[in-house]
Amino acid sequence: MIVEMKTGASKESVDAVVQRAKSMGFNVQLNRGTDKTVVAILGSNTGQVATDIFAVLPEVESVTRIMRPYKLAAREFKGADSVVSVNGVELGGKRVVIMAGPCAVESEKQLMEAARAVKKYGASVLRGGAFKPRTSPFSFQGLEEAGLEILEKARRKLGMPVITEVVDPHEVDLVAGSADILQIGSRNMQNYALLTEVGKSHRPAVLKRGFSCTITEWLLAADYLLAEGNNQVVLCERGIRTFEDSIRFSLDISSIPVIKKSSHLPVIVDPSHAAGHYSLVPAIAKAAVAAGADGLLIEVHPNPKDALVDGLQSLSLSNFSNLMEELRPIAESVGRFI
Ligand code: PEP
Ligand code: MN
Repeated sequence: MIVEMKTGASKESVDAVVQRAKSMGFNVQLNRGTDKTVVAILGSNTGQVATDIFAVLPEVESVTRIMRPYKLAAREFKGADSVVSVNGVELGGKRVVIMAGPCAVESEKQLMEAARAVKKYGASVLRGGAFKPRTSPFSFQGLEEAGLEILEKARRKLGMPVITEVVDPHEVDLVAGSADILQIGSRNMQNYALLTEVGKSHRPAVLKRGFSCTITEWLLAADYLLAEGNNQVVLCERGIRTFEDSIRFSLDISSIPVIKKSSHLPVIVDPSHAAGHYSLVPAIAKAAVAAGADGLLIEVHPNPKDALVDGLQSLSLSNFSNLMEELRPIAESVGRFI
């Protein structure tokens, strides 16, 4: 951490910075220029110290962090790629894992039809929301516990792991009873009570990026899960809010290589919520695989025009089948397979 003092700062003010750093167990290097003094605060934990601790002291001009604030999710903390294993499906290995299914579980018939098809075309994880975090309280909120029962049936019948969203910290055990992977939605990325409970559950978790959050904030959220001893964490880029309004969210494709550089955690992409329209999903999905995503989370509905949620962005079964065929050579071209 670098503390830049104001021009002509007094010796007492510089000493105050030095004393505070030393009292916290850090080493200090002083750089006295003709007009300005710069204090370098050294120690492996400076990334976790709030810059305000120094910024509030008299005659401090600025405080700049050198170390990254996230810790357990950082590549520096663990050099090798993490692989998250869910009933034999490995996320973060050579295989690009396809998770697919409807936005929401609507009925047993709807979910089973979607599940059979996505499995047949090569998906290895079934998605389906039982608890839906909706922007409007008047929108369909999901079948809740009845939805979990349907997911469990599909999981048993098809032997396919299931991912579903948990929205309430008090329902983590309930949802974990029916799901193999707990999904933390974009709107809940900074719900720290929820993150802590999912962390304690030690269940594989997919942490979606908050649509107004930076990559640093996303990795700090991952630290909440990791700090509870849950090392089965997978990140999911699903688009962020930008000035562009021709698409639902702008998929930040660059977050994939940035995550690969900054973190050891696997990262998957949800092209559906970024696209907002089924016609845009295939291009985004293919770009994500080409950019190094470890998996995709895709909305697929047997009858998108009658879907209760997100029908416009859901692929029909035949569109999903076509996309899977298009994805295979792309995965191979980047040394992966589907
Ligand atoms: C979802 O996957 O159904 C969902 C609600 O996504 P997000 O949290 O990314 O909006
Ligand atoms: Mn959805």
